[in-house]
Amino acid sequence: MNNDAFVPVNEPLLGGRERQYLQQCLDSGWISSEGPFVREFEEKFAAQVGRRHGIAVSNGSAALDAVVDALGIGPGDEVILPTFTIISCIAQIVRAGATPVLVDSRADTWNMDVDQVEARITPRTKAIMVVHIYGLPVDMAPIEALAARHGLRVIEDAAEVHGQTYRGRPCGSFGDISTFSFYPNKHITTGEGGMIVTDDDALAETCRSLRNLCFQPQQRFVHERLGWNLRMTNLQAALGLAQLEQLEGFVQRKRQMGARYTELLAGLPGLQLPLASTDYAQNIYWVYGIVLGPELGMTAQQMMAALAPLGVGTRPFFWPMHEQPVFQRMGLFAHDHHPVASHLARQGLYLPSGLALSDTQMLRVAAAVRQLVTGG
Ligand SMILES: *Cc1c(COP(=O)(O)O)cnc(C)c1O
Repeated sequence: MNNDAFVPVNEPLLGGRERQYLQQCLDSGWISSEGPFVREFEEKFAAQVGRRHGIAVSNGSAALDAVVDALGIGPGDEVILPTFTIISCIAQIVRAGATPVLVDSRADTWNMDVDQVEARITPRTKAIMVVHIYGLPVDMAPIEALAARHGLRVIEDAAEVHGQTYRGRPCGSFGDISTFSFYPNKHITTGEGGMIVTDDDALAETCRSLRNLCFQPQQRFVHERLGWNLRMTNLQAALGLAQLEQLEGFVQRKRQMGARYTELLAGLPGLQLPLASTDYAQNIYWVYGIVLGPELGMTAQQMMAALAPLGVGTRPFFWPMHEQPVFQRMGLFAHDHHPVASHLARQGLYLPSGLALSDTQMLRVAAAVRQLVTGG
């Protein structure tokens, strides 16, 4: 890599058996979702997180759509979820005519503040959707206790935490059903892709059916329910298998990168860095986020605009759901205030964090941030 070249915000690593498995697809002619890698990827991925069933789908957003539909969430139901997340989490809740109920983030972990959940539970609450943000898990024990006490379903969006654990238990094994994404900036990638995992036989069956247009085994073109075509191809699953074989090393490297960034940026005034750990998990730094303090007199947008000419690619933090124009126009969240999430959205950004990032590139990124922060 040219030392002066732009440092992209993400570049994946495809150095395992990806080529070999893709070649097998081409040689065998199995390129559709009917190919054998799909089932193998589902089984190995589910086993990795300790779930009975894996249902491979076309992307992480589709996984969430199918899960919300499979749980029968609809008009009159409320679902509690964080405001600080990607729109994929809330889309099907809104489309189905259910009511999303938002909670703010914690200022330290950026994850949903689990202490705010209980006050949001009503007789109409059907589910809690937890979303592990940027590499640290949500504090799951209080969520599990609340769900048990109130008879609520738990959906776990684990798209950013492949290989992460909460108190030693794999993320993706919590609640009724969990989802993953394999977009190229996730810890393992299939280009585009996603996975649903669950221990619940009936839910798994429903998700499989929803993924495949709800075709029926007996009378294929007679439908009892509306589904989607969310199938993953054999080509994607080939990539996924090869990537899964490398997951442990990927997580190790991400932790190393996070620790290195923190070493390079520690002590800079006005810069909040990601927590290295909590009492239940060690950060796996899906992305390396920074939050700019008021003493810097700079928004994340200004910082990103200043980093680009220095050769550093960045992305802004999530924009909270309660501030989305599309939902405001629908009359949703008119009285919501979530100051932590609103602050994170304006002051947070993430630095190049892809697995192909080199130590030299990290040095360049840190030097650029240091230059802007210290004005030197
Ligand atoms: C990436 C991501 C998704 C969406 O996955 P896609 O594969 O891009 O559709 C959903 N939830 C979270 C938390 C994500 O980070």
